[in-house]
Amino acid sequence: MNTNLLSNFKKFLLHCLGLFSVLSAFVSCTQAEPSKTEFALGTICTVTLFDEATDIIYDDIFNKIREIENLMSVNISASDISRINAAAGITPVHIDKDVFEVIEQAVYFAKISDGAFDPTIGNLVSLWGISSDSPRVPSREEIAEVLPLINWQDIELNENEQTVFLKRSSMALDLGAIAKGYAADAAAAIISKAGVKRAIIDLGGNIVLTGEKKDKSAWRVGIQNPVEQRGQYIGVLRILGEANKARTIVTSGVNERFIEKDGVHYHHIFSPDSGYPAENGLLSVTIITTNSMNADALSTAVFVLGYEKGRALIESIAETEAVFIFEDYSVKKTDGADLTITDNAFSLVNIK
Ligand code: AMP
Ligand code: MG
Repeated sequence: MNTNLLSNFKKFLLHCLGLFSVLSAFVSCTQAEPSKTEFALGTICTVTLFDEATDIIYDDIFNKIREIENLMSVNISASDISRINAAAGITPVHIDKDVFEVIEQAVYFAKISDGAFDPTIGNLVSLWGISSDSPRVPSREEIAEVLPLINWQDIELNENEQTVFLKRSSMALDLGAIAKGYAADAAAAIISKAGVKRAIIDLGGNIVLTGEKKDKSAWRVGIQNPVEQRGQYIGVLRILGEANKARTIVTSGVNERFIEKDGVHYHHIFSPDSGYPAENGLLSVTIITTNSMNADALSTAVFVLGYEKGRALIESIAETEAVFIFEDYSVKKTDGADLTITDNAFSLVNIK
């Protein structure tokens, strides 16, 4: 087992422990089938169906998740994203309808975040290789070389032809900040179509809760402690479910993927301006809303934007709340987030 596999395996075990705590944070629900966990989209994906669960529904969900991975992963050379990247500066590429929709949404979030979220960040992501077998801290020159290749405005979308064209050669898309959310929504759609009334989908921390709890009480979801292992929480969010409706909780933070070099912690969410991991006093940002793709894009966007601009963006979007955890262990939240801090090291600060 190479070191990366070993560390993935360790992460898997830690996740199983963490997941146990997450699930135990959800108050009683009768479970007809055990959860199902698989490694996909570069992370650990767990789906728990309550009531009316069948193996066929689980299979449908995981087949869909793998289909999305095959279309959107930069690590699969035949994926739509790899084909678009290979044709950068050369020719538009006809792609799958769902991938087109995700790229369209990625461009939308790039626009409303003023480029803090930028799906053309591919070259920078591979230069650092934080999620790869050979992560490293690149030189300033290397970073300066790839920065000009990041610009979402150079993505040309043709809706009629269903094609995507990256205008300049060597540009590269990376949907790592949005694809898990899209996959979680797709899983929720399958669950709802199958008539399963309540479920928990957890794709590496992109959580979707469908429906309401049997006793109609609020779902309780732990917010990950951003400086501890998975499964350690700073507090609990109470989220009232509704029949036939999904709620989603998505976190972007410094401890999901990172490398340490010379005592410095380098995480995986980059500022498209500097080319270095975004640094603005935040340890994590959690978004609570109804659509997981939106939450995924927003958690990354807000993490890069920082607290003031990020909060303003969230407050401009309906039915969307956020929790911000800072390096000094203070915590801020938007008005509609129902959060109780359970770890004394962290404190909720009510001022804006
Ligand atoms: P997330 O964990 O959802 O915040 O997404 C982080 C992943 O998105 C990284 O592993 C990269 O693949 C990619 N990424 C990093 N920085 C950005 C950014 N500023 N805009 C868009 N995608 C990014
Ligand atoms: Mg994201």
